Amino acid sequence: MGFGMTDVKIRELDWYLRDHLFRQSNNGRQEFEQRMLPSEMIKTYLRYRNDDIDQISLLVDIVVGNLLHQHVINKKDGDSFEVRGTLRRLQCSKCYYVSYLGEAEEAACLRCNSRSLEEFPKKRIKNSD
Ligand SMILES: [Zn+2]
Repeated sequence: MGFGMTDVKIRELDWYLRDHLFRQSNNGRQEFEQRMLPSEMIKTYLRYRNDDIDQISLLVDIVVGNLLHQHVINKKDGDSFEVRGTLRRLQCSKCYYVSYLGEAEEAACLRCNSRSLEEFPKKRIKNSD
């Protein structure tokens, strides 16, 4: 496939990007610019700190295309997009994998496809305000 663009790398970045979108939208952020994401990923995740930004850009383009196709995000003006509804963070009770799922997606583990999912983390911290 060239550039070492393995399926594994795509799936891995899919996980980290969903994690990023989940955390950012929980902080009230609505809009994301596709071209800014590679540097955001490098800044946010140790995993990508020493990776080549051009390679990350190629992976981001593939994953963003997939997320659009899966209706997890909506395209906006230019290269901007927004998360559609709310991302859910769920843990599989079979394999313990944590999946971030969009509202339009089937509630099934992204690793083993099991439908036995629970909120993650289980204990919720209540906000006083
Ligand atoms: Zn699973």
